[in-house]
Amino acid sequence: MCKYKSPYIGHPTRKVNGIEQNTGALGHGLPICTGIALAAKIDKRSYRVFTLMGDGELPEGSNWEAALSAAHYKLDNLCAVVDKNTLQITGATAAVMNTDPLGEKWKAFGWSVKEVNGNDVDELKAAFAALPFETGKPSLIIAHTTKGKGVSFMENETKWHHGVPSKEQYEQAQQELDAVLESLMNN
Ligand SMILES: [Mg+2]
Repeated sequence: MCKYKSPYIGHPTRKVNGIEQNTGALGHGLPICTGIALAAKIDKRSYRVFTLMGDGELPEGSNWEAALSAAHYKLDNLCAVVDKNTLQITGATAAVMNTDPLGEKWKAFGWSVKEVNGNDVDELKAAFAALPFETGKPSLIIAHTTKGKGVSFMENETKWHHGVPSKEQYEQAQQELDAVLESLMNN
């Protein structure tokens, strides 16, 4: 992590499987995806567009410009997910820049909104299976999550937003996450 030539530089890059757009200046993912979704509508293509946002990047104004545009152009092929873990690099999102009540704000912008436990894979799968939530509206999933979920000493600790574990911490985290993965595979 954060090593020269590593794909895991701390922000999303196309070097990581499944990520199709570099972002990292906050508030770029949704505007880019809104444009891609609009292109699909113009070209009469059937693909859908997904973007994952942190709750700490929502104060960027570009998100709200995109939210307006996506609703205006009726982009029901667009799904945004907000990872609402209530923390960002400098502390609690509510203290840095409060965006609550979040669901009501997105609804007022013309989006269809569902809130789920983002640490529950079945709840997430059910939400994705229900897309689009309403014909003619972009969909937003507010995923309530615990930051650092599954690693006991990282959960809800802001400092691990950009922390580098020691060798011992890394091994402990790997053991705990392996146990979580095993229990998920057995269910
Ligand atoms: Mg966050």
